[in-house]
Amino acid sequence: MKCKFCGKKAEFFLRQRKLYVCKADFFNFLERKVERFIKKYRVKGKILVAISGGKDSLACLSLLSRFLKVSALHLNLGLGEFSKESQRICKEFCKKEGIDLILVNVKEEFKVSPKNFSRKKACSICGVIKRYLTNRIAFENGFKIVATGHTADDLASMIILNFLSGNFDLLFRLKPYTEPSLDLKLVGKIKPLYNVLEEETEFFCKLKGIEFVSVKCKFERYASQTKIKEILNDLTKDLPQIKLQIVSNFLNLAKNVKPEKPKLKFCKICGYPTIRDVCRFCKLIKGYEN
Ligand code: AMP
Ligand code: ZN
Repeated sequence: MKCKFCGKKAEFFLRQRKLYVCKADFFNFLERKVERFIKKYRVKGKILVAISGGKDSLACLSLLSRFLKVSALHLNLGLGEFSKESQRICKEFCKKEGIDLILVNVKEEFKVSPKNFSRKKACSICGVIKRYLTNRIAFENGFKIVATGHTADDLASMIILNFLSGNFDLLFRLKPYTEPSLDLKLVGKIKPLYNVLEEETEFFCKLKGIEFVSVKCKFERYASQTKIKEILNDLTKDLPQIKLQIVSNFLNLAKNVKPEKPKLKFCKICGYPTIRDVCRFCKLIKGYEN
């Protein structure tokens, strides 16, 4: 088989795109996607990339660093071996690449960890902590934009989950680019890999020799999103392009839907935006939520 781009001998078959490529054009393909994203949304300035130590966020950091000035942020969530290993990998990657890394030990600094919650709640608590701290740390350090490594696999599973649960507000707020609202202390959010597959970030890291966390967080398998991801992966055997189709069809549909903006006020404790008097993060660290 021949590479779709250069016509020379193909080295890989990207199954979920039905695409044959050579190694050089596989890298070009991902770089062009990220470059197009940056141009389309006019992303500029210094970006803070939130990295977990997993393949997606490290691929995201590596690809963005080719086009923009980047720093990285890693939150150590106090989840035993998993967090220790994640932190080590993030530190080593950033040192090797000469990228500044902001490292926050959430358990020590804020006395909170998803570990202290039931396994059913842990993932949603972890989400609250990550969303809040990523925004606050970026804002306090003068960044206007945070990038995350969310992939097409993440988006497709979130779209299905929010749809099935009837969370239409959340559903229609899912998008690859959210503008900053600095007057509300909200930095912008970008997902440059929203149309890249996890299979491809894994491949990218392996080919580039980027070490990524292979242990999984012990709570992950209980999350509904993980179960949807498994179903979608299974479906790709018959419908290889299903994840990319879910994402692109949804984004086309969402273009015409304007979700109501939540009425935000500032948290009485921390001063960051919330729809309540006290934000969920402050409630968590005060022990009001369990
Ligand atoms: P997840 O919520 O684990 O699916 O991760 C989604 C994205 O959030 C990742 O691609 C990262 O960009 C970011 N992220 C996840 N965990 C962390 C962490 N511990 N520290 C910083 N960013 C993270
Ligand atoms: Zn607060």
